[in-house]
Amino acid sequence: MWRLYAEYGRESTPQFAVGLVATVLSRLLGLVPPVVLGLAIDAVFLDRRAYRLAFLPASLVPETPLGQLRLSVAIIAGSFVVGAAFSWLQNWGWNAFAQRVQHALRVDTYDAMQSLDMDFFDDRQTGELMSVLNNDVNQLETFLNDGLSSALRIGVTVLGIGWVMVTLNPQLALVALLPVPLLAAFTYLFVRTIQPKYAAMRASVGALNSRLENNLGGIAAIKAESAETFESGRVADASRAYYDANWDAIRTRITFFPGLSLITGVGFVVTFAVGGYWLVVGPPWPLTGALDPGEFVTFIVLSQQFVWPMAQFGQIINMYQRSEASSARVFGLLNERGTLEASEDAPDLRVSRGRVEYDDVSFGYRHAGDDGEPVVSNVDLTVERGETLALVGPTGAGKSTVLKLLLRMYDVDEGAIRVDGTDVRDVNLRSLRRAIGYVSQEPFLFYGTVRENVAYGSFDASDEAVVEAAKAAQAHKFVRNLPDGYDTMVGERGVKLSGGQRQRIVIARTILKDPDVLVLDEATSHVDTETEALIRHSLADLAADKTTFVIAHRLSTVRDADRILVLDDGEVVERGTHAELLARDGLYANLWRVQAGHIDDLPREFLERAIRRQARVESADAPAEGE
Ligand code: ADP
Repeated sequence: MWRLYAEYGRESTPQFAVGLVATVLSRLLGLVPPVVLGLAIDAVFLDRRAYRLAFLPASLVPETPLGQLRLSVAIIAGSFVVGAAFSWLQNWGWNAFAQRVQHALRVDTYDAMQSLDMDFFDDRQTGELMSVLNNDVNQLETFLNDGLSSALRIGVTVLGIGWVMVTLNPQLALVALLPVPLLAAFTYLFVRTIQPKYAAMRASVGALNSRLENNLGGIAAIKAESAETFESGRVADASRAYYDANWDAIRTRITFFPGLSLITGVGFVVTFAVGGYWLVVGPPWPLTGALDPGEFVTFIVLSQQFVWPMAQFGQIINMYQRSEASSARVFGLLNERGTLEASEDAPDLRVSRGRVEYDDVSFGYRHAGDDGEPVVSNVDLTVERGETLALVGPTGAGKSTVLKLLLRMYDVDEGAIRVDGTDVRDVNLRSLRRAIGYVSQEPFLFYGTVRENVAYGSFDASDEAVVEAAKAAQAHKFVRNLPDGYDTMVGERGVKLSGGQRQRIVIARTILKDPDVLVLDEATSHVDTETEALIRHSLADLAADKTTFVIAHRLSTVRDADRILVLDDGEVVERGTHAELLARDGLYANLWRVQAGHIDDLPREFLERAIRRQARVESADAPAEGE
């Protein structure tokens, strides 16, 4: 929490100071009316002591009772008005402070998260990360706003009231302040009891939500299996668990305020009884000295001011603990350092020849749930500018992984990947990725206009360049037919585009980027055969002067490649041209038969291997689905 202030609060010290000072002053002003009331009773109505106030010069006090009464009214009225102004300032200060910190923290956390390596994202679910960016950051904002100011208010209230009481009558003060530690202890106990109950409640509401979400998503399957009764039962169980957890928390919660009132009530009665007895009969044993009726009134009124701030005491502890946890998560993230940042000082990659080589590359995923077993083993390859290398092989063979290594989404475990002789680990990551155009299996569009999506990454491209790129990607025609042409909003929440249309926009983006190296990961998989032919034509133009890698499931799309690498289980098992590989009659030839529909001609062994491989891929996917 200290780091939070040191790194993010310092810049907003003026707002913090305003909040702090205004809180103290507004609380102190709240003490004025009861004090002046007591004084007026004693000095003006009963004439038992002189009209004296700590911060009021004696020369300003009028002689006559009427004058003193007017002064009292004026002071009380003034303290309310000024108190209101301070209360406004207090809210302004704390809110401004908290909002500024929240904003800076969120932006920094996002920046830090964005620059982390892919394994970080592989390990975590989007919801979990969203929760750090939203809930945790908001939690800290709430604490800085409500928590700090409430804590301060409690401190000032207890100290201020204590001070006034002790000055007036230290002995009665002891009696009147008795409930304070009791209130604190009670609240603390309450928080300790309710916290695990709230945790149970959150867990059960999480389970209920997952169940509901899952069922709504799978409604068609439920209907198809006539499983309505079964599912109604499961939902009822989850809902009942939530009900029970909730009710348990409610039972504890509803004892809190009555408990607080009871303690304050007892305090009130004791103070009233002791003070009253004192006034009527004299000081009860072991107390000594004198008490004036006005002082007594001040005591009674002030003792009522404890309750509300003390009731918040528990909330503050709770808030503090939660904020500490949030703070740990947020700073945990800010402390992570990605390769991107680490490569910031490395020299830029300069591509001249455009030669990409893999030198005996091996790699295994190594995040949680993966043991780092090689997914890619001993891959050797060289591709020159103007050449196209195709990677083929069954699903899960490691084709995408090989290319992700080039982009340094992950770093190789063994061997090296070099561009024009420079190891990709020795260059600035941004320059490496700028040199590579990557069209992935799942074309991703950002929420924004078509134009913005095409120009994504080439942010200062002219409108003409965007249109040229779209034409080259065979996207211009359909974009023109969209409701607002290039200004149509697409992406999530935007106009729905077909997979093929999205793909063509992403291809236009790559054409506009004009990279030295082109990586097409099943770039035409979402497109019908006719569009595919068009796109392949334009991609061929684009690839003419580039170093190109292609992954395609449809072997027809790679038959023209200069070289084909056949991967199986992360290893290169065959390499050559389409014709050479067919002649070899190995894995490639079999894959080709499958695609040509000649299933009957497949060797038995191939099918058995396929079944074994599927089993492996499915078991590798299983944990991800179970999450
Ligand atoms: P292909 O592109 O040939 O279908 P991939 O490179 O996608 O193959 O996957 C190769 C293997 O690596 C598969 O077993 C797959 O389950 C695994 N894999 C792919 N991505 C990840 C990841 N992010 N984390 C862990 N394992 C992965």
